[in-house]
Amino acid sequence: MVTQEKFPRPLTDQEKAWLRQALSLLPTGEYFGGGRWVDIETGEAKPLDPPVDPEPYLAQIEDLVVVDRCRCGNPRCHTVDFQHYRPGHSMALVHTNTDDGRELIVFEDEETGWLTQLEVIG
Ligand SMILES: [Zn+2]
Repeated sequence: MVTQEKFPRPLTDQEKAWLRQALSLLPTGEYFGGGRWVDIETGEAKPLDPPVDPEPYLAQIEDLVVVDRCRCGNPRCHTVDFQHYRPGHSMALVHTNTDDGRELIVFEDEETGWLTQLEVIG
């Protein structure tokens, strides 16, 4: 089943929830798996990363607009671009997992700090 989506559109409640879940890891230092993911070589949990203030990112959520989404066809893929997306300027801000075990990655523009992409892949 393929639903034809119209863009731009506001974020869904699920997309906002994923963003909030991911951004909540910024102040704890767990945003790249620190304290949770085990290094295969050493067998030790990855160290925490330095705390990051989530407020500048949380403040953007209500103003974000989805302008496009991935068309790879994988039903477990829910990857969307926001209006601030610029090719070649996005870097991962948070890398974690959804409650149903998919990868959840939030990207920001490395120069402006705007949130640019939400990537959920199974
Ligand atoms: Zn995809």
